[in-house]
Amino acid sequence: MLHDPFLPRARYLRMHLSAEKAWSSPSLLASAPASCSNGCTARWAGLPPTCPKSKRWHSRAQALVLPDAIALPAIGENLRIVYTPTAHDRIALSYRENASLHLSGAVADPQRCCLALQGWLKGHARQHLGVLLQQAAQETGLPYSHYRVKGQQSRWGSCSTLGNINLNYKLMLLPAEWVRYTLIHELCHTVEMNHSRRFWALVAQFVPEYKAVHAQMKNAMAQLPGWVNVS
Ligand SMILES: [Zn+2]
Repeated sequence: MLHDPFLPRARYLRMHLSAEKAWSSPSLLASAPASCSNGCTARWAGLPPTCPKSKRWHSRAQALVLPDAIALPAIGENLRIVYTPTAHDRIALSYRENASLHLSGAVADPQRCCLALQGWLKGHARQHLGVLLQQAAQETGLPYSHYRVKGQQSRWGSCSTLGNINLNYKLMLLPAEWVRYTLIHELCHTVEMNHSRRFWALVAQFVPEYKAVHAQMKNAMAQLPGWVNVS
């Protein structure tokens, strides 16, 4: 997802779908006149709102955010998304492993579709990230107490002093090596509750290329497909 549209010559609002990142699903590219504040476009792209004037534009933009495919590189799964409108008031969702997700019911409402997809991905993440975390704990010999999957806005994971690890379900949309790094990063916090030299030395034992991965992940949150940030 890109949103770098403040070209001085832009006179109209423009949107089109983009899938320029190999690891992201097709998503919205918005362009706006230079007079529009940065918050407007950020919100169109599904990022936290900072511009109250952009409300009318949000809803229009969100109508275009629905994906027709979702790639989950974290677990090597690609899903086609099929929307079938019916008279039902709710959205029902059925999943075929590594094939498709079918949404039926009130799918004319894009916001509800996005929320249904988010809810499904959270559950899917709970199952898969748990397995990956367990594997990482075994590989590193760093045990944790419990883990939870959440929908944090600005962090991929966290670790408490009690060794409880919170993971962001949006990790499912990232490359497997980035997810592995994140899990190991949090597991290393069970030993070092800081980002000291000792901490990074511990991370480097398991992810020697951690600096490169860390740098690559810097803008990953802002480049997620818009539907995961619709609220
Ligand atoms: Zn950390």
